[in-house]
Amino acid sequence: MGCTRIKGRYVVGFDGQRHRLLENGEVVYRDDTIIFCGFGYDGPVDREIDAGYAIVGPGFIDLDALADLDSTVLGFDNGPAWRCGRVWASSYVERGSREVYDRTAEDFMKRYAYAQLLHNGITTALPITSLLYREWAETYDEFARAVDIAAELGLRTYLGPAYRTGLSTVRPNGRFDMHWDEPRGLTGLDDAIRFLETFDGRHDGLIRGMLAPDRIEGCSLTLLERTRDASRALECPVRLHCCQSQLEVDTMQQRFGTSSLQLLHDTGFLGPRALLPHGLFLGGGEARPEQIERELGYLADAGSTLVHCPIVFGRHGKALNSFSRLRARGINIGLGTDTFPPDLIRNMHAGIMLNRVMEDDSQAVSAADFYNAATLDGARALGREDLGRLAPGARADITVFDLSGFHLGQRVDPIQTMIMNGTGRDFKTVIVNGRIRVDGGAIAGVDYEDWHRHAQTLYDGLKASYPERTHLHPPVEQIFSPSFELLPPGDAQ
Ligand SMILES: [Zn+2]
Repeated sequence: MGCTRIKGRYVVGFDGQRHRLLENGEVVYRDDTIIFCGFGYDGPVDREIDAGYAIVGPGFIDLDALADLDSTVLGFDNGPAWRCGRVWASSYVERGSREVYDRTAEDFMKRYAYAQLLHNGITTALPITSLLYREWAETYDEFARAVDIAAELGLRTYLGPAYRTGLSTVRPNGRFDMHWDEPRGLTGLDDAIRFLETFDGRHDGLIRGMLAPDRIEGCSLTLLERTRDASRALECPVRLHCCQSQLEVDTMQQRFGTSSLQLLHDTGFLGPRALLPHGLFLGGGEARPEQIERELGYLADAGSTLVHCPIVFGRHGKALNSFSRLRARGINIGLGTDTFPPDLIRNMHAGIMLNRVMEDDSQAVSAADFYNAATLDGARALGREDLGRLAPGARADITVFDLSGFHLGQRVDPIQTMIMNGTGRDFKTVIVNGRIRVDGGAIAGVDYEDWHRHAQTLYDGLKASYPERTHLHPPVEQIFSPSFELLPPGDAQ
């Protein structure tokens, strides 16, 4: 591939401690590795890219990366979640659950979602999909194909099929219950381990493995303990959703008489490889301040990472309490998209506003703090000093954010303007492992019109499948109501 130099008005260079903005700086990479970041490189280069009026920065790291056609957006104006199909009706489980998508659709959704991530300047992704529309969980075969899809698009991923031993259900009388299938969950873990042993490090290290047990309330103690042991033995990240809902808090209280984080601490699950979305419901049932403090201490001492996804929860009236307070407590916090649009810039903007609201303090947090979370802190979560930065020796994961757009308005400061006025759509070039994947705002080989149409068709099918899983099985129009009364074509007003 040879040696490439990229020049730009602002280059986000890493000096070993922190990011700095290099005005009219340059970054040079050979093959998949950055060899220079600074001013006036005088060695020979094979290719020059002049990014012009742009920010040349490291690719973002998305620790909870939307990897399907997002179903949580269906809850934007429709709730409560358990009445709108976010929790399976017990009758659906009794009758026998089914897979909504076939394997062609599954593969298409991954291709579609990974392309979306790249467009948003995300170069490292830990994908997440919903288990709602599945017969049970993700599968080994599906992920064996995901390896090829990620490699074909050139997205750096940490992959592993999600597994679970149980799930919440809602009975016809409106009470919540759990449905368990322990053997199925343990087989899922065995498959995940087998997947990791087979695929970790494939495609020049672009593909890495992770363990992804589903949300904590759906894990038996045995599943948690075996996952902990496997993560230690394989030295891989383990992502576990916890502290994300009142239903989880109540279920954990009932099952273990304690909080999610207390249980994770007591079982030795916490450690530097633990990635924990979403950190919203701390302290368990009574949420006493001293218990919350104790839990924050566990996270800080263990070096675990909270995965913060401001938009997906902000849309439902919840915010981390708070990003700045938890960071000051010594807790590493990375970012995730988790919902559509998979745009970390919009998430940074929402995250900053929510943080300031939660603290009632306009100085509580800065644009730089959130930029760091999307880059350096995400890399720390993965134990990767070669990601999230532009510095010699780092992987050549480089993005070009175009500042020349009319819609961007005036530049206050490049990073602040990016976060306030920009979106992921402003990335024009995205390079992963030294290969240009988004060029001039497009990915080669993607038929955008066709993909857009096809995704809508699949999504309409998903929507139509909701009644069978939803509490009391109402018709689909009752589950998802339109913003305004929807008149069919030609209907007289
Ligand atoms: Zn999540």
